[in-house]
Amino acid sequence: MTERKKTRQVRIGNVTLGGGAPVRIQSMTKTHTHDVAATVDQIHRLAEAGCELVRVACPTEADARSVGKIKSRIKIPLIADIHFNYRLALIALEEGADKIRLNPGNIGEQDRIVQVVGKAKQYRIPIRIGVNSGSLEKNIEERFGRTPEALVESAKRHVALLEAQDFRDIVISLKASDVMTMIASYRLASGVFDCPLHLGVTEAGTLLRGSIYNAIGIATLLQEGIGDTLRVSLTADPVEEVKVARMILEALGLRQGVRVVSCPGCGRAEVDIFKLAEEVENRAMKLKDPCTISVLGCLVNGPGEAHESDFGITGGKQKGMIYVAGKQHRTVDENQLVEELFKEISAVKQSAGDPKVKTKMK
Ligand code: SF4
Repeated sequence: MTERKKTRQVRIGNVTLGGGAPVRIQSMTKTHTHDVAATVDQIHRLAEAGCELVRVACPTEADARSVGKIKSRIKIPLIADIHFNYRLALIALEEGADKIRLNPGNIGEQDRIVQVVGKAKQYRIPIRIGVNSGSLEKNIEERFGRTPEALVESAKRHVALLEAQDFRDIVISLKASDVMTMIASYRLASGVFDCPLHLGVTEAGTLLRGSIYNAIGIATLLQEGIGDTLRVSLTADPVEEVKVARMILEALGLRQGVRVVSCPGCGRAEVDIFKLAEEVENRAMKLKDPCTISVLGCLVNGPGEAHESDFGITGGKQKGMIYVAGKQHRTVDENQLVEELFKEISAVKQSAGDPKVKTKMK
């Protein structure tokens, strides 16, 4: 992994971004923001899954005016997403948004930019410039097409408008639905700007396709040292976005987490390996402490993987062996395996510091 590029640091509520801070996970709610109860409920689910920054769409005044009520009921920083209407940006800032996403070149006259930037500066609130290949300025698209050069050119114009007001708390994203364009755009931008970069593939698709496209785009850049925060955009429950983001960071060794190692299953399996692995994965996502759990269908590779894991299951004839700290622990009926495994995990957690159990995750 290439050393991470040092960007200038900005602060979003109580979370730092860039400048050597950990890569932050963010997501966006899919509720109507003015439905405060539904939005807060979704944010609580996102935070529980590991989301560190959350964005809400503010297309109407009612949405922008809900920012304060939502913020008072959540614990993670809240970002207001504004397009075109500078008054909504002013309202969201007054309501206490911790960051706004706004392209200053899209809000019209200079006086409007001065008002929004002045208030953001007064409250020390960062602004993310979010360039998107689907909504480039007409004259830029005519000159460059929908290319990485076009996305960076657009970002340059927006940044110049903010820096002309001596505003520096800037985050930039350059999203494209084409993964290779996205990668090339961020590579180019990384050489041009020192602002923190927010990574993401836009309109990436449903759960499977979107996860793969985002993982390829985001992970390629992160392993080159590019990127300070990520949002995995999926046509799915936003909690899935956070799970995928966590897995990307864990796979790259940028974050410790719970890793479930499971075999694909084959004719040797004598337990329902798909069901077992799925149940373990779902429950493991809720664990707070890093560990590895192996779920294997038979004795061919089971003991070996279990030996390398903190906890493990190996299938037998409608039964399974539970492993703790790499060693055989006890045999359990297949339908009790997951329940009993998590009892062992929570027992070890309660006796924290047990020298027999050490996570092998780096
Ligand atoms: S661990 Fe056993 S069941 Fe799983 S893929 Fe390997 S041989 Fe097949």
